Amino acid sequence: MTKYDNASLFETEEPKQPANHIICVAFEAGVDSEFDYLVPDKLWPVHIGQRVETPFGKANKLEIGFCVETDVSQTGQYKLKTISDVVDKEPLLDSGLMELARWISDYYVCPLGVVLGAMVPAAVKKGAGEKKEKYVCLAIGPDEIEKVAGELKRGKQKRIVQQLRELMAFEPETAVELEGLLEQVGCTGVPVNNLADKQIVKITKRTVFRALPAVPEGMVLRPEKIILNEDQQKALANITSRINEGKFGVTLLYGVTDSGKTELYIRTIDEVLEKGKSAIVLLPEIALTAQTVQRFSARFERIAVMHSGLTAAQRNTQWQKIRAGEANVVIGARSAVFAPLANLGLIVVDEEHESSYKQDTAPRYHGRDVAIKRAQLCNTHCILGSATPSLETLQNCKTKGHIFSIVRLPKRVMNLPFPEMRLVDLRDFASGHDGITLISEPLAKQLGEVLEKGEQAILLLNRRGYSNFIFCPSCKHILHCRNCDVTLTFHKTEWHGLPARGDTPKMAVPQIATITGKHLRTGRAICHYCGSQTLVPEKCPLCGKSMIMIGLGAQRLEEELSRRFPQARVARVDSDSMKGADYYRILQDFSEGRINILAGTQMLAKGLHFPNVTLVGIISADTCLYLPDFRANERTFQLISHVAGRAGRSAKKGVVFVQTFLANQPAIQFALKGDFDGFVKEELKHRQNCNLPPFWRLALITLRDRTYEKLEQAANLLRERIDRIVADERLQVKVQGPMPAIITRIQTFHRIRIQIKAPQATILHQLFSTLRKAPVLRPAVTVAVDIDPVDLL
Ligand code: ADP
Ligand code: ZN
Repeated sequence: MTKYDNASLFETEEPKQPANHIICVAFEAGVDSEFDYLVPDKLWPVHIGQRVETPFGKANKLEIGFCVETDVSQTGQYKLKTISDVVDKEPLLDSGLMELARWISDYYVCPLGVVLGAMVPAAVKKGAGEKKEKYVCLAIGPDEIEKVAGELKRGKQKRIVQQLRELMAFEPETAVELEGLLEQVGCTGVPVNNLADKQIVKITKRTVFRALPAVPEGMVLRPEKIILNEDQQKALANITSRINEGKFGVTLLYGVTDSGKTELYIRTIDEVLEKGKSAIVLLPEIALTAQTVQRFSARFERIAVMHSGLTAAQRNTQWQKIRAGEANVVIGARSAVFAPLANLGLIVVDEEHESSYKQDTAPRYHGRDVAIKRAQLCNTHCILGSATPSLETLQNCKTKGHIFSIVRLPKRVMNLPFPEMRLVDLRDFASGHDGITLISEPLAKQLGEVLEKGEQAILLLNRRGYSNFIFCPSCKHILHCRNCDVTLTFHKTEWHGLPARGDTPKMAVPQIATITGKHLRTGRAICHYCGSQTLVPEKCPLCGKSMIMIGLGAQRLEEELSRRFPQARVARVDSDSMKGADYYRILQDFSEGRINILAGTQMLAKGLHFPNVTLVGIISADTCLYLPDFRANERTFQLISHVAGRAGRSAKKGVVFVQTFLANQPAIQFALKGDFDGFVKEELKHRQNCNLPPFWRLALITLRDRTYEKLEQAANLLRERIDRIVADERLQVKVQGPMPAIITRIQTFHRIRIQIKAPQATILHQLFSTLRKAPVLRPAVTVAVDIDPVDLL
């Protein structure tokens, strides 16, 4: 009798063997440690990567956790609890992904259970869209059947047995689907149940997935016949020879927009599949690059798509397809790096510089860096593609040449000319006859000409909403969010201007009047951080005078366009107006010429390809530059050059207008010249002087609490603790803070920061490993650790 399982003390009937299986379980709940549990014989075996249900905590509440170890030996004097059930039939993660999970947990300072929870889509854990179907087979052998059939008097039961015999359903593998059987025999489920009670038939259940297409029908492009140009051929030869070495390596595919990178990914994947291996392609926010998804879908038969635009049922289906080995190419956003693909031969990270690869909740991992790690664990190759590689990757190529190498595609395919870049200094043009205008005279003139010729334009304004300040000119009061330390953005009440297919363009233009005071009531002030909304007071709550709106948003751009170009068909694309299907439809309408101007936020800067677009306007190149973030210059350069890549993607000549108040800013100047190397050189100097990434590594600790005093106390305590470790272990780090975060309050939580810099990642790792063992990282306030942060707000 076991000393751990006290229930068995009272068992008298059949004395059981002691349950001697011990497993280790990690919970998603956020505790930074794992727990040992006993597994009773009847639930054994449990495998690593399966989820189990266990009593947890003082109240023994049932919780679900991942089994992370199976051959645990009993240590210590604790009385172990016993798991109550096994949730998954098969492990959700294989040993390779488990190893990756441990690395993420370790590197990004995040509890293992939280990492595991993030690696499996919620839709999979919930079993979204799964249906249990019942199957029936005979539980008796062919020889017994005559006898049994003779004994059965009831007609329906007899017919069922005969039908099953005809269908040769003698074993579970040949079982017949119940619904269909009932239909054939013409009866309800009752006779089948009666037969089951008599053990003449057996009913089994199988999980089936509703097979749902992940790419909208009619959107799949035909495969194109493309002959690689000389640069592409050389690049392909180079990359495949490195892949054929059969060991871990990273290639930076550094090629301007339209240089044929995507085509090259496809060819490389072809080679990998040829060898019976599989590939993952990561894209930033896949819904934004619908066209890329379609190109891959057109080229690969066994492809699975994973992104946030899918329904839960679709996501589950795609994931199950991958795990069942039915897919050999997975394309998806950040979390697709965790796709349960066997036999991985390549990971591609397109637009590797994109900050959206970084997850902003725990685990705060960077999709690109996890991709590199997964490639390393699988001993395989990783391709990072970009027209403006991150400084981190460029630095890796310089300092880790044995792993990282650069392949260049310097020219646009078919030698298309680069678009002409024109700077508009807004200091000369900003104010029109009715206040601030978003479209300067030179841009308006060009836009007019483009529309005249039946060509198309994309206009980009990197801000959602209508206006980002609601302001009282007499007392200078600005409306702030009551929960966060940020100003509220005015959003006009939407009335969707997008016409149904086939409407004549003219009728479809939404008639929006010019802005007047009374419009203050036809919208809401929304906080972009916590999402809270309020009605906008017509009069200032402090002094009673009229409020006005300043600042510029995409909604206002749309309004200005319809006022100045009433004949044009305008569609706005930003995260306020877009739901997945609408986005596909707008893109299709635009590509087929039913829309003349696409206006929107940076969603438009990526991955779109429209040959008829000859004008791209950046309404304000300065929006990033004002942010207190050391990557502001880098982002500005990227924004301009990627948006510019949208223009002139065919024989027609393209023009890019860059409107700015900061015409002499170096990032803008370099971007206008298309001089990425020059920009990098300049920017690296600055980064080196300030000990910033990519030279030093950064970690941010953000503490949050509703009570400021408590928060301050916890932050000071943490700082002391860090200082002690730094002194004890003689670590070369620079610690700053506690200091207020740049946004000092979000969702009523005050925020305090401690920033740590170190010349190498291993030093940060050492510091956090020690810190993590102590209770300090689990104090009364909420603590978030962000390693290699990309968002400093
Ligand atoms: P990138 O990913 O670098 O922006 P793409 O691979 O998307 O470039 O190529 C841009 C366009 O040129 C695509 O429409 C693609 O189909 C086409 N293309 C790529 N390579 C070739 C080639 N060798 N010959 C003709 N067209 C090509
Ligand atoms: Zn808020």
